[in-house]
Amino acid sequence: MEYYIQGEKNKWEVILGLEVHAQISSKSKLFSVASTNWGGEPNSQVELVDCGMPGALPVINEYCVEQAILTGLSINAKINKMSIFDRKNYFYPDLPQGYQISQFEHPIVGSGYINIDCEGKKKKIGITRLHLEQDAGKSLHDQNEENSYIDLNRSGCALMEIVSEPDMRSPLEAAEYVKKLRNILKYVGSCDGNMEKGNLRADVNVSVKLKGEELGTRCEIKNVNSIKFIQQAIEYEAKRQVKILESGDEIFQETRLFDPNVGETRSMRGKEESHDYRYFPDPDLPPLIVTEEKINELKKTLPELPDQRKNRLMIEFNLSSYDAEVIVNDKDVANFFEKTVEGRDSKIVTSWVTGELFSFLKKTEKNIKASGISPLKLGELIDLIIDGTISNRQAKEVFEDYIKSTESAKIFVEKRGLIQVSDEQEIENLINSVLQENPKMLEQYRNGKDKLFGFFVGQVMKVSKGKANPKVLNELLKKILSN
Ligand code: MN
Repeated sequence: MEYYIQGEKNKWEVILGLEVHAQISSKSKLFSVASTNWGGEPNSQVELVDCGMPGALPVINEYCVEQAILTGLSINAKINKMSIFDRKNYFYPDLPQGYQISQFEHPIVGSGYINIDCEGKKKKIGITRLHLEQDAGKSLHDQNEENSYIDLNRSGCALMEIVSEPDMRSPLEAAEYVKKLRNILKYVGSCDGNMEKGNLRADVNVSVKLKGEELGTRCEIKNVNSIKFIQQAIEYEAKRQVKILESGDEIFQETRLFDPNVGETRSMRGKEESHDYRYFPDPDLPPLIVTEEKINELKKTLPELPDQRKNRLMIEFNLSSYDAEVIVNDKDVANFFEKTVEGRDSKIVTSWVTGELFSFLKKTEKNIKASGISPLKLGELIDLIIDGTISNRQAKEVFEDYIKSTESAKIFVEKRGLIQVSDEQEIENLINSVLQENPKMLEQYRNGKDKLFGFFVGQVMKVSKGKANPKVLNELLKKILSN
């Protein structure tokens, strides 16, 4: 669907490019052996390099380099056999070195792309580069009324900065891009994708233009840390720019912040150009050389990626493209699905996973791991539906209570007397009593009001307290009514 901002005079296109900062899931930092554990006592995980002590030398973490290469391979990108670490100079209290070690002209990963699925439409989003860099520390402003404090635990943690081409045209496309990228990183294992902890955050570049015109001046919205906020920030920012341009003013290139509490972006500082940072190669670090053999070795260890897994699930379990997509969108869900479907009918497992399970997770705002639901737990319930012990409807009714219980499905169902009634005589008796109690309805049915069939089914179900086997009930009712 085409997306545009309708101003007072014109329709405006929105041009979006994203810079995603993803923290590498590594035990130690990019250039030091300090731990990267989250939530530690402030300043308890800081080596001399991380606090910028003169003379302390950085030593590259090989694991982080490998993760960057694996990520590069998974986004169809060129791996550069030589890359160079530069110093990006700027002053900020949470940056004790006075510069960030980053990569500028020679990043470790060159151009690539990923495919996104946007409302059923496929789109290829170009990736300009992926480079390695250090994270900064954190200023704490809420600990003391008069002073701000610094926590350097995060200082020096390894980041992959993944820069996209300005290929996205709507907030939804930007959201799908981040979701897909995050998913790929999680499959590869190079980043846990946790946006709440700030392990994955996006700088969003927004500009607007009239159709056929050249790219306009962009504003960069810094460090947006949820998919929802990314969409809200883009919508607000694009409208703001349209208003300015239609009033005849110019856009001033700057860095802005999104405030989720009011849903607005506001100016943070004028945007720096790269020459402001006085990049130069870090004299403490030699060029990073990666051999062809190393790349090939890593390529062999690449796990199955979301797109490949989607195709396999469609073939192996006969899933629709839509179902396969929503299942592989979360690696944990895909693993859960594959364990549950083992030895079971894939159609019913798919409908339970994408139906009841997904709505339960949504309602409880939990992901599959945090929910504590095991494939065995759901599988046992599905087994009872398949062997006819309970009906699908009964299972749905008790699903939440069952999930919260610690009982096996069999015991849970027995204890609550949920066993489905499939006995024909018993159901026939129920049908007859319902028909006797509703003589007028029966007459109307006999006079051609076919719709009342559903009414009788419902009534029998009701008196059986939902226990009647719907298949047996339907067949018997048809037989009795046709007599
Ligand atoms: Mn960066």
